[in-house]
Amino acid sequence: MEYRTGLGYDIHRLEEGLQLVLGGVHIPHTKGCVAHSDGDALIHALCDAMLGALALGDIGQHFPDNSDEFKGIDSKILLARVNGMIKAKGWHLVNADVMLLLQKPKIAPYVPQMRAALAEVLGVEIDRVSVKATTNEGLGPIGHEEGVAAYATVLLAD
Ligand code: MG
Repeated sequence: MEYRTGLGYDIHRLEEGLQLVLGGVHIPHTKGCVAHSDGDALIHALCDAMLGALALGDIGQHFPDNSDEFKGIDSKILLARVNGMIKAKGWHLVNADVMLLLQKPKIAPYVPQMRAALAEVLGVEIDRVSVKATTNEGLGPIGHEEGVAAYATVLLAD
């Protein structure tokens, strides 16, 4: 058996009056992500980690943000497509670990739902998908509630 690791990162600006969708879950908040898609930075980081593990490029190459096909798209669809790409090459996800950086709101109550949503799309047990969140201690653009960022790592096996 061979293994591959991948790393992903994403950041989106937050603006008043937009929907906030993270980890496939709608989170009630006054601000949401500015994006061509639904702005799910957590899923975008995860997609990039999975693509990166197989050197398949990045999410922008596969789902261009100037394409009408992806305007407002549910990022779970993008994740399903990335999962399909790695499966088509004979690989599967062993585990994923995602770190979300967001000042507000508190994410902890939504983490179980996010893990369940991601695990369902990926077709794996929930204990293979970790979601963690931290504030930025009020520092920088994320601390000032101007944006949300996410890092993801994955392990794939063939
Ligand atoms: Mg993104």
